[in-house]
This record gives sequence, C-alpha cells and structure tokens, in this order.
Amino acid sequence: MKYIGAHVSASGGVENAPLNAHTIGATAFALFTKNQRQWKSSPLSGKSINAFKEACIKYGYSPEQILPHDSYLINLGHPEPEALNKSREAFLDEMQRCEQLGLTLLNFHPGSHLKAIGVEECLNNVAESINMALEQTNGVTAVIENTAGQGSNVGFEFEHLAYIISRVKDKDRVGVCIDTCHAFAGGYDLVNNFDNVWKQFEKTIGFRFLKGMHLNDAKKEVNSRVDRHESLGKGTIGALVFERIIKDGRFDGIPLILETPDESIWEQEISWLKSFV
Ligand SMILES: [Zn+2]
Ligand SMILES: [Zn+2]
Repeated sequence: MKYIGAHVSASGGVENAPLNAHTIGATAFALFTKNQRQWKSSPLSGKSINAFKEACIKYGYSPEQILPHDSYLINLGHPEPEALNKSREAFLDEMQRCEQLGLTLLNFHPGSHLKAIGVEECLNNVAESINMALEQTNGVTAVIENTAGQGSNVGFEFEHLAYIISRVKDKDRVGVCIDTCHAFAGGYDLVNNFDNVWKQFEKTIGFRFLKGMHLNDAKKEVNSRVDRHESLGKGTIGALVFERIIKDGRFDGIPLILETPDESIWEQEISWLKSFV
C-alpha cells in the first residue's frame, strides 16, 4: 500500500488539514501543528483536537498516513546551553501536540553546529534532545529528516542519522524520513546509483527505521549541498527516480510527502505518482 500526499496548509486550524489533503486526492499528508516560524503558539483547543480527529476519520486518514513537521526555528544540536534548552522545550511542545492529536510521528531536521562545536558533539546534543522528549511523551516516534548539508546543518550523511539512532535509548520510537532532494544535494546520486544508495541506506540505517519520505525534485546538481526543491520531473533528479520509488515495495506503508514548490500542481503530481501503483 502506497500513501501519497503533500505538506498541506493547516491555516485556520489543524482541523482544516485533512480536507485540504482530501481535496487534492492525497492518501497521506504532512502539516505543521503550530505556526512554524514562531516560538510560541497558543495550545490546541479541545474543539480543534476533536475536529481534527473527526476529519481524519471522515476522509480516511490513520496516524500512519500523517507526518507532522516541527518548527524551522528548533535546533536540537545547538552549541549554546540556553538556546539548546529553548529548542528542547519547543520540541517537547511539538511532541505533546502530536500526542494530543493522536498522531504517532513527528518529523524534524536534526540541527546545526553553527561552526561553534564539532559534528559529533552536535549529533550527541540531538540524540540527548530526543531522549529527553521521548522520556516525557508516549506513543510518538521522533522521525529525523536527512538534510542537504547546507550551511552548518548536520544529518546529510546516512552515518549521521545512524549515529543519532545509536545513542537514542528507545529504538522503537526513533526513525528517519528521507527527503530525495536533500539526499541528492547531500551527495547521494539517486539518478545514476539508485540501487546502491538504498543498499547503503539499508546497511547504514536499515529500512526498519524508515518512517516517511519527502518526494522532491531538486534545482541543483548532485552534491551541491543546496536545499532547493523542484516540482517532480522538472529538476535535476527527474521523473524516473520517483517512478522507481513508487514501484518499490520497500517504500510501502509510510507517508510519501510532496514538498514541491508549485502547490497548484500537487493534485496532478499525486495522480501521476498514483499511476505507478
Ligand atoms: Zn523538513
Ligand atoms: Zn523535506
């Protein structure tokens, strides 16, 4: 079973996201459960939580088809203790929002060393941040997204993700989301080495930890370390890679989410992907 969708708007309230997903023919969706560019948001109201759950039932979305994304401000690898704590508090709030909504996954970018600490120390911070959040929540899996390696972001090598997982105590509540644009920009040549990239993924991390995918074409060449998404088939990755992913059973049963730049063609992109099922 393939779950295919996009990162839809939750403006006006999280309860609007399921309808927005349904409208474009999605069988999966991603959303922000709060304003992604602000540190503070008001708590979810009971009314909003109930409406969200009812809409998910109405349009046929179960938690395994939904991949919430946390705020862009959070840096769980921050080199400075005060800023790190602020991020950890915000991340806990994001996890608790997922808990309240009955969701089981939370997708986030690992963090940045800001050139103040080494990669390993940054990864240690990320792992410890995850441990702290998991200790205080139930039923939500922390899903680490690979990055393009832009700036001082960690997490662009599969080894970074594997290292974080190795230091997380509860292995049942940690996983990864692979973004195809980020992987390509981070040096994984999905175009010329598709089979090898996934062999390497299996060896380094393992498909049992794969909890979601972001399907994005890329504007820049392989190993550019630049995070610029493109519509499917219009970038440097090209249509065939996405066709291969949809036809590949290793990507069954997890949300496959578009974060492509032209929202007006999401419905078309989804139906094109579905045509390969
Ligand atoms: Zn992301
Ligand atoms: Zn992504």
